Amino acid sequence: MIGAGPIGLEAALRSAASGFETVIHERGTVGANVRRWGHVELFSPFVMNSSQAGRKIVGAGRPADDALLSGDEFASGYIEPLARAIGGEVTIHEHSQVVAISRESTWKHHLVGRRSEVTDRFVLLVEGSEGESVDTADVVLDCSGTWGNHNPIGAGGIWCPGERRVMTTGDYEIPNTEGDGAGWYTRRHMLVVGSGHSAATVVVALSGVSETRVTWITRGQKETPLELVGDDPLPARAALVTAANQLAADESSPVDWLPGALVLAIDGGPGHFSVAVDDPGRGRQVIAADGVLGLTGCRPDRSLYGELQVHECYATGGPIRLAAQLLGEA
Ligand SMILES: Cc1cc2nc3c(=O)[nH]c(=O)nc-3n(C[C@H](O)[C@H](O)[C@H](O)COP(=O)(O)OP(=O)(O)OC[C@H]3O[C@@H](n4cnc5c(N)ncnc54)[C@H](O)[C@@H]3O)c2cc1C
Repeated sequence: MIGAGPIGLEAALRSAASGFETVIHERGTVGANVRRWGHVELFSPFVMNSSQAGRKIVGAGRPADDALLSGDEFASGYIEPLARAIGGEVTIHEHSQVVAISRESTWKHHLVGRRSEVTDRFVLLVEGSEGESVDTADVVLDCSGTWGNHNPIGAGGIWCPGERRVMTTGDYEIPNTEGDGAGWYTRRHMLVVGSGHSAATVVVALSGVSETRVTWITRGQKETPLELVGDDPLPARAALVTAANQLAADESSPVDWLPGALVLAIDGGPGHFSVAVDDPGRGRQVIAADGVLGLTGCRPDRSLYGELQVHECYATGGPIRLAAQLLGEA
């Protein structure tokens, strides 16, 4: 397994129970990605974020099935106990990053169209605290998630000029406007780019910060920034979407929504960003902002398996059979 997030751990539990010798390589520590947004509350209840087998092995101290946990509570109440519980059966290497995957003797150009004949093992280049090494496996599950591999904010889905120079990793994450360093967000003008639930979370949080204004850019030109899921079975998600949409619609709110706007270029830095925007409503303009937060989604790191023959969907980048099934359901 690559990654000791919730999916890697659940997969390892199942794998070990099926009799496989099971190893997890985790780039950071168990639950590292979830910890990066630990202050944010999940909108799905605990029972939807855990397996029956996982809940059973973690035992009575686990969260209640209907609990809406923060990322930190999910990590300390379930992900870490699950890792400890499976520790006897599964080897978990922390600070052990998988850099690349191939096969022992069947290289990328071998057996084209005949991969079902492949019998050799996978080889993985792993970078750990003591240097690089090679591991081998019969089966590899990429459970490395997407968080940390953020999409750019530029028009066309690529970086806009200046973006790679002035934006830092933290500018693509969800700030904690109530934790350490929260004071920085007071009396600021923040530019938020994105139209998903992470962007909505940030807009709602910033709107509650004293004297802070938000300019919210969404690529879509719909009636509202986010669409409500019809009869949403997750009330917390519906409440978030409703709150964000109301802020965008309310002219007296601290949120100025620019639907259909595109980010053309960015310069400056914290406290003095200038962002060139093409706004169908107001034309081209340069917006001055204290901070820019890019929440335009994340993708898997596909470079990991670039030396394998993975048939990918050209639109989503997902493995084709999985992508086709998901698109078929959409
Ligand atoms: C703010 C926020 C709120 C969310 N709320 C919900 C919600 O309410 N309900 C829901 O179902 N989902 C929610 N999600 C989605 C949530 O992230 C996933 O459901 C869940 O964390 C995915 O688990 P994962 O194990 O696939 O990935 P992750 O949790 O991202 O774990 C991947 C792990 O792999 C490790 N890793 C990455 N690359 C490598 C490498 N090369 N080598 C070794 N290790 C590596 C990482 O360090 C990490 O520990 C939310 C996400 C965010 C960002």
